[in-house]
Amino acid sequence: MAVFKPENVEDFYEIGEVLGGHFGQVRKVKERTSGSLWAGKFLKIRRSACSRLGLDRSSVEHEVEILQAIQHPNIVALKDVFESRAEVVLILELVVSGGELFDFIAEKENLLESEAIEFMKQILEGLKFMHSKNIAHFDLKPENIMLSDKVSHPNIKLIDFGLAHLFNQGEEYRSTSGTPQYIPEVISCQPLSTAADSIGVITYIGLSPFQGDTDEETLKNIIAMKYEFDAHYFNLTSSMAKDFIQKLLVKNPDRMTAEECLLHPWIKVARRNRSSINMRNFKRFNARRKWKMSYNMVWACNRLVNLRLLCKNSSDPDPLQRQCESDVEDTESKPASLLRRRLSSS
Ligand code: ATP
Repeated sequence: MAVFKPENVEDFYEIGEVLGGHFGQVRKVKERTSGSLWAGKFLKIRRSACSRLGLDRSSVEHEVEILQAIQHPNIVALKDVFESRAEVVLILELVVSGGELFDFIAEKENLLESEAIEFMKQILEGLKFMHSKNIAHFDLKPENIMLSDKVSHPNIKLIDFGLAHLFNQGEEYRSTSGTPQYIPEVISCQPLSTAADSIGVITYIGLSPFQGDTDEETLKNIIAMKYEFDAHYFNLTSSMAKDFIQKLLVKNPDRMTAEECLLHPWIKVARRNRSSINMRNFKRFNARRKWKMSYNMVWACNRLVNLRLLCKNSSDPDPLQRQCESDVEDTESKPASLLRRRLSSS
């Protein structure tokens, strides 16, 4: 069982700038005794069962237990956990300066397949380790793949284990969380396994392989696993890379596992590979991905405003709503926690 320290986090850490998360729940923090820097993930806890705001304590316990079980160089490390009346704070290894992997790549003029493979290998090593412990991430997407040092030796760190799951022997697990573009199984609510942590779409590096002209078409493409290697974008891509992607963009159980991926010739002969990635296409995809994220944020803000208006306009709130008044107060001080929990996933 994870230990949640009841002390005030601010007695031990100086709280610094916002690093990310919706409305900034992940902040840089400085340990007062050593001066060392960490990332503090502030998670608001639901105060009553009827509350729509914040998280169940059990879901936070779950995230903590999983992080404690997977200590690996390619997975963000958990140092400490603090708990107050309304909040749990995870003290995590600070992923310094690198930022998101995709942003790092998008800044580059050129990217050889051999360089991309080095990143893939690290992602796969992290996944292989987790999967060997029967843990699946279930939210593997560009935003959750960070680089710890982009100058000398870029080191991949997988973050955000909020949707991760530890499988019991023989367990059948279904979930509708997770991003369909990256985990096709969530659309049809099929049982999930560690195979859902596929890097197929991430490796495709370009427009999302299943992107249609409309959302409906995109969903259909995902369900049918329909995609193609457009010659215009993939003329520089090696046939081994395409073979690798093809073996991932298939339905489970035919999909390669992380362990099998590491044995694929494309990954194994990385150093000799001089093919390039189409950067124009990649940059376009990344810009579009960022735009979509901002769009989702605006949508979430509007929802929040509407929610608050609803609460204010109601002259005779029902008893349940009254019980939830504390949540409304919370929005005044920290809208962050209100909106949190895996908006991007739904
Ligand atoms: P979201 O809802 O956006 O997925 P979340 O609340 O689940 O967010 P995380 O995904 O864990 O939280 O973190 C949000 C963002 O905070 C990350 O995209 C990243 O930019 C930043 N971040 C998280 N953990 C760290 C870390 N250990 N070091 C540096 N930055 C971090």
